[in-house]
Amino acid sequence: MTIKIPAPFSGGLLLSYKCTAQCRHCMYACGPRWKAGPCSPPFLRNWHNHLDNYGNFIPGYCGGITLGDWRELDDLLKTGINLKEYPVLKYLISDDMHGLLQFALDSGYDENKDGYYLKCHLCVDIRKYLKTKDDFRELKPDAFYANLD
Ligand code: SF4
Repeated sequence: MTIKIPAPFSGGLLLSYKCTAQCRHCMYACGPRWKAGPCSPPFLRNWHNHLDNYGNFIPGYCGGITLGDWRELDDLLKTGINLKEYPVLKYLISDDMHGLLQFALDSGYDENKDGYYLKCHLCVDIRKYLKTKDDFRELKPDAFYANLD
């Protein structure tokens, strides 16, 4: 299934990317308890996405996820994204965090028995693990994951 990305009309430019995830900027988009339901603000939207210095077009505040190369944005908007090639995006776009968690568990991820601060905390923790298992093209830049605590 191919999905179209909304054409952005605003965004933020990241000039460096040595993220330690300590400011939790990427984590304030969701409420204090993880529960089933869509990411809020929506994962795909046309306002306030981010462009990083590696060329990644980041959905919203979601550091460590790329929708593609913003230097080829015209093409990206035209062709969309084939979700068969991006399993992590497939779960996030379809608001299926339980599916993403199960996908990670099936790959050997250990769920934190103490729980998670936020849905975004769980999301980052799963992505950090998946990054060690395979080269998911939607999990970029590498520096984001290399510097997580
Ligand atoms: S749960 Fe993940 S995809 Fe959703 S807003 Fe948080 S970091 Fe982004």
